[in-house]
Amino acid sequence: NKNYIESKVVIIMGASSGIGEATARRLAKDGAKVIISARREDRLEKLADSLSAYNVKYQVGDVRVFEDVQAVINTAMTEYGRIDVLYNNAGIMPLNPLSKLRLDEWQAMLDTNIMGVLNGIAAVLPIMEKQGSGQILATDSVAGHVVEQTSAVYAGTKFAVRAIMEGLRKEEKDMGIRSTIISPGLVDTELYTTVDDEDTQAYLKQKAKIDGLGLNPETVANAVAYAINQPEGATVTEVFIRPTRQE
Ligand code: NDP
Repeated sequence: NKNYIESKVVIIMGASSGIGEATARRLAKDGAKVIISARREDRLEKLADSLSAYNVKYQVGDVRVFEDVQAVINTAMTEYGRIDVLYNNAGIMPLNPLSKLRLDEWQAMLDTNIMGVLNGIAAVLPIMEKQGSGQILATDSVAGHVVEQTSAVYAGTKFAVRAIMEGLRKEEKDMGIRSTIISPGLVDTELYTTVDDEDTQAYLKQKAKIDGLGLNPETVANAVAYAINQPEGATVTEVFIRPTRQE
């Protein structure tokens, strides 16, 4: 089997923990040139150090800020002269019922989960169009298809990401640019620490009992690797991966 990941230039936004971190490990070991980004520099530095046997660089950035995302893209171009893959994975999930009126959280989710993805697309699309090739992935969610209590706004952002990625696919397919949606169910990561409402935490705990344990982030990273490890003419448009016992 040919390894299409080997020597690809891959940028991962939101790579300091969870799915992004696991994906960085997986793709680095498969021989990709990986640039990892997020806000927490200590975590990025530790991850890059632990992968020093491979080709991994890090750059701090906030996906809500276009200039930050652009700077990461520029680093990759200066270093390697091309970008094969951009993985827009950064996201937050401060779940709450709408009645709590947490406008600050709503704005943060819109800015991170939606504008973060759009900033990535804006920064990389001109380069990929010039190359006539490239792949953009985004971590969506089962929440991009199904709305639960407390998830109205989070699911709204993930429905939006799915629409944006599908639009991107249709508009850019003739340019040879691939668009891939990664839609996991429950994954054991730090994402749940962004929920600060006690009632919502209790609701999620009870649901997790019904659903069973979440996936390992490594399992999702394998799915991402599968989506990248395809020949030029094939696009994995969406990957669903749920814990077996999740609804
Ligand atoms: P984590 O909290 O472990 O990872 C989130 C990542 O996003 C971190 O690296 C974080 O880094 C980064 N991030 C958050 N805000 C920003 C920002 N403004 N700028 C740059 N980076 C940012 O959780 P997961 O691995 O679970 O989450 C990854 C993605 O997977 C998210 O999009 C999430 O919505 C999605 N997802 C998760 C599921 C789950 O059950 N865990 C299920 C389905 C989808 P830092 O804080 O250092 O900036």
